[in-house]
Amino acid sequence: MAIQGQVFSAILDLLSPPGCAACDAPIGGRFVFCQACAEAVLESPRTRVAGVEVVAAGAYGGPLGDAVRRLKFSDRPDLARPLGELLRTAALRSRLKPDLVVPVPLHPGRLIERGYNQAALLARRVVRTVAAPLDLDGLVRIRSNGPQTNLNAAARAANVRGAFHVRGRLAFAGLHVLLVDDVVTTGATLSACATALFAAGAATVAMLAVARVE
Ligand SMILES: [Zn+2]
Repeated sequence: MAIQGQVFSAILDLLSPPGCAACDAPIGGRFVFCQACAEAVLESPRTRVAGVEVVAAGAYGGPLGDAVRRLKFSDRPDLARPLGELLRTAALRSRLKPDLVVPVPLHPGRLIERGYNQAALLARRVVRTVAAPLDLDGLVRIRSNGPQTNLNAAARAANVRGAFHVRGRLAFAGLHVLLVDDVVTTGATLSACATALFAAGAATVAMLAVARVE
């Protein structure tokens, strides 16, 4: 390999160190997981939650759960690239044809704390695949809630009800909106977002997530 080529590949490696998204085992090329992790990822069937079609790249848990938690809580925004590849594959398989891609927003306070919205990073990876523009500020989170992790389904729903707001009345009139998030758990967040989008005129709402809790 010419020196120039080596330098280029070294720079690429620095930008996106090739490692398994779940366990950092070295992997080559465009793989997301090492072989052992890849074999442990389970499919998630397409489903509907609160009138919203949900497409997930896989079932939450195992390596996929590890990868999502690392993206979110371990300051690993770089993992949006490989996990975005999983979203792109799921979007193509499901033939999603939205007018607009909208990441589930974080409350501004949480955004400052984390430094990035993982859902927005993921959404950026799919816009070209679904050939629709990204809308980063049409849907906003107006209420900050504690983490949903330790709440049951009813408490989660109460926790996020009214937490989302649409800028501009009928801002989504007639549009097929694709929401993007890292995980769909009980669907409480999804349902709260969908309520706000439908109230603003959205024709349909679908959700594309990396993982769904079965
Ligand atoms: Zn692995």
